[in-house]
Amino acid sequence: MAQNKLVVISLDSMGFNDLDQWIDLAPHLKKLRDRGTWVQHVRGIFPTLTYPSHTSIITGQYPAVHGIVNNTKLQPQRLSPDWYWYRKDVQATPLYDVARQAGLTTAAFLWPVTAGSKIDYNISEIFPNRIWTNQVLVSLKASSPWFLLQMNHRYGHLRHGIKQPWLDDFVTACAIDTLKNKKPDLTLIHLVDMDSMRHRYGVRSTAARAAWQRLDARVARLVDATKAAGTYEHTNFVFLGDHYQIDVTKMIHLNIAFAKQGWLRPLPAKTTYRKDWQVTAKACDGESYVYVTSGVDLKRVRQVIEQTAGVSHVYSQAEAAQRGADPHCAFLVEAKRGYYFTDEVNRPAVVEDVDPTSLGTHDRYRGVHGYGPDQPNYDTTIVFCGPDVNQKKVIEQTAHLVDEGPTFAQLLGLHYPQATAGQPIIGVVKEDRS
Ligand SMILES: [Zn+2]
Repeated sequence: MAQNKLVVISLDSMGFNDLDQWIDLAPHLKKLRDRGTWVQHVRGIFPTLTYPSHTSIITGQYPAVHGIVNNTKLQPQRLSPDWYWYRKDVQATPLYDVARQAGLTTAAFLWPVTAGSKIDYNISEIFPNRIWTNQVLVSLKASSPWFLLQMNHRYGHLRHGIKQPWLDDFVTACAIDTLKNKKPDLTLIHLVDMDSMRHRYGVRSTAARAAWQRLDARVARLVDATKAAGTYEHTNFVFLGDHYQIDVTKMIHLNIAFAKQGWLRPLPAKTTYRKDWQVTAKACDGESYVYVTSGVDLKRVRQVIEQTAGVSHVYSQAEAAQRGADPHCAFLVEAKRGYYFTDEVNRPAVVEDVDPTSLGTHDRYRGVHGYGPDQPNYDTTIVFCGPDVNQKKVIEQTAHLVDEGPTFAQLLGLHYPQATAGQPIIGVVKEDRS
């Protein structure tokens, strides 16, 4: 019997709260939620950032194992560090590789950390980070070139660079075209509109609500594309969030505290600092990694961190590793709600208010994520729907982000080559299929 297809749609920053309190704004998602299986609470990973989270979703592993421990790399001398764009940085097996090896066709649209992967139809999330590169060139190198040229030719007019909501419009159009014409066995779609609006305007802002409504309309169009393609009856759908967000008003610049101790040396009039640091913070917004070189008094470093306003908790290296975060850090630092970390070194104080007139510029936010996943009221959520999924079911028991990939594998009848940290979520897949 032919295997049913799988379409996974990631609505970046969708939390349990959205499918609970904002559901009347999203009639299509409501219908899907009520028809299929809704796993209400999904606990994220340390840190709850987009790239580590999507990699945990698709590999079933924690960042300590898959290696995508942050969105960006530790590059103190770059104002804008490189992101973990490339598949080669992932040290675990993503489901799209398992699918491909089983002879299934795969497609991905802005799914994080897929650049240079062997996905059949891929538009990877990558943007030019060097002044001598441009969007077309970096995208061509990282994606399926002929496919990207074709998509850009047909739908490039929808896009204004990487600005929202136009980028999601472009991605949706490309995905619809592909669902209709290529009918992939596994399709991964990442829509970022609401996350962008939350960063800029706040978690429950009018702009975020409007983005939520736009996402609902895009979801409906994507599902309809499979009806037009004649694949709807044989397609399982997943609608998931990667993390939620928390409103913020204050920033913590840990590197300024470290510079005061002489542990790093700022470059004059720049946000960057010299390479020869002994202690450095590498922010994940709601949390921050702290790295040290050898010979540093860790007790003293911990003291300096703990004395900083807005710090709620300091995890040791062993505690961070145990929670699946980067095992190479010296500490993982948690901010209090309302605070977030930056890597900056040229600010007037270690802790400062976010100036409302600066919102929308680099690292100036009204809402962020990246906190530890156990923050109250912070869970994300997932909905399954389709021929192999139990109908009209609500699962109240908390699942984990790493359980999602193994559940997708179960739906596709696939097995990861290594044991995963997560397990298929019990009660989602119909019994004759599980
Ligand atoms: Zn995200």
